[in-house]
Amino acid sequence: MTDWLFDPAPTPSLPIHGRVERFPVRRILCVGQNYAAHAKEMGHERAEPFFFTKPADAVVDGADPVFPLATSNLHHEVELVCAIGAEGAIAGWAVGCDLTRRDLQAAAKEKGRPWDAAKGFDQSAPCGPITLGALPDPAAPIALSVNGEARQSGRLDDMVWNPAEILAKARTLWDVRPGDLIFTGTPEGVGPLQPGDRVEASIGGLQPLAFTVTPR
Ligand code: MN
Repeated sequence: MTDWLFDPAPTPSLPIHGRVERFPVRRILCVGQNYAAHAKEMGHERAEPFFFTKPADAVVDGADPVFPLATSNLHHEVELVCAIGAEGAIAGWAVGCDLTRRDLQAAAKEKGRPWDAAKGFDQSAPCGPITLGALPDPAAPIALSVNGEARQSGRLDDMVWNPAEILAKARTLWDVRPGDLIFTGTPEGVGPLQPGDRVEASIGGLQPLAFTVTPR
């Protein structure tokens, strides 16, 4: 029995559709610029996908995230999330939102500095329930609306790298382990969120994601 100086933080987790067990989140990897049209709207003609990370406790399960500190340009990015299961392979899927402090990201890009403050902030990874098994439809629509107005709309097969290729690439960089989540990039149409905005996101037959941005 370890004698802790203080109580360790609880394990971040997500619900699993149709199951009582929860999915314990170990780490969050994210892919950048994995849809050609989004890479283009961000000013990258044909960038190779690359990874950044969010801390595990950035995950938001069913709660309404608070509008973050230190930004006046919070952006939504709807993404297919791969959940790594006990065997170290993709065991399930979810709809996630890679919340981004776009103003801090632009400043970091300009100076060649890390993206941590732009991407890995508190409550930056709202995520819907995980659906275990194979992806229901690898060509499913992926969409996000704000206050009922369509903002992002694409198809999973618009991805530059598919989930199997992303996992293979991730394994060349990390020891990918059970509990890891991989956000696989966003289609075009990213845009700003204001306090009070209602966000609804869906991917084919997966459990949808919905949240309201809570005023600070
Ligand atoms: Mn993203």
